[in-house]
Amino acid sequence: AVSLHDVSFSYGDLSVVDDVSFEVQEGDFLGLVGPNGSGKSTLLSLMLGLQRPDGGDVRLFGEPAHEFEHGERVAYVAQDATKTSRDMPITVREVVRMGRYPRNLFGRFSAADHAAVDDALDSVAIDDIADRRVGSLSGGQRQRVFVARALAAEAEFLALDEPTVALDAESRESFYELLADLNDTGMTIVLVEHDIGVVTARASRVACLNKRLYFHGAPDDFVESDALSAAYGANQRII
Ligand code: ATP
Ligand code: MG
Repeated sequence: AVSLHDVSFSYGDLSVVDDVSFEVQEGDFLGLVGPNGSGKSTLLSLMLGLQRPDGGDVRLFGEPAHEFEHGERVAYVAQDATKTSRDMPITVREVVRMGRYPRNLFGRFSAADHAAVDDALDSVAIDDIADRRVGSLSGGQRQRVFVARALAAEAEFLALDEPTVALDAESRESFYELLADLNDTGMTIVLVEHDIGVVTARASRVACLNKRLYFHGAPDDFVESDALSAAYGANQRII
């Protein structure tokens, strides 16, 4: 679904991604880990084509990522989604329906669109709060709304950046169960997550980053490697 070849990126003089190469295969559940400021969010935005690399090549479904027309195939839940959605004055159903906009630019929704919205609400178990305003929901409920929007869009690839920081332990657990279920049905998932335990338990692949890539492979191999301590021990402060 995504391939990165020798990807580098800097903010001005600050190099944050250095020579990173790996692939996300269709059906993968990739956990992307690394310390604060290690470039995880930046790498995710490069993978989604929201920023262009300074060097190297990022491909999303075979196209240069920055040229990719997002439309329906790719859905993204940004790191601050829970925070910024606190003031959303529209209802859950309206947000989920936004997932159908790419195929209905003039806002004329078909019966199939409405059915897809209902199915999405049902799949993430928020059908009972469909008519509430998003801003009035808890953090965990709001995260589910964004996933439902991705489902309504029938996205094949879902990228989430630390989606559960605002959630209590129980809500986190059920949210990750939801992601695992979606992955079981074939959705490709990239999850930026600071909790290593969640990643090794849930993900099918792990990428460990601190500007450069310290590890990419199976969770079991990651646990046995010294990549984690190497990446977290590496001095990422810039001279
Ligand atoms: P966190 O775990 O805190 O979310 P992260 O791994 O997602 O961190 P990034 O947000 O990708 O890290 O940031 C990587 C580095 O780039 C940091 O040093 C950060 O300060 C810097 N940075 C991020 N965004 C910008 C920006 N828009 N302009 C300048 N520097 C930035
Ligand atoms: Mg981040």
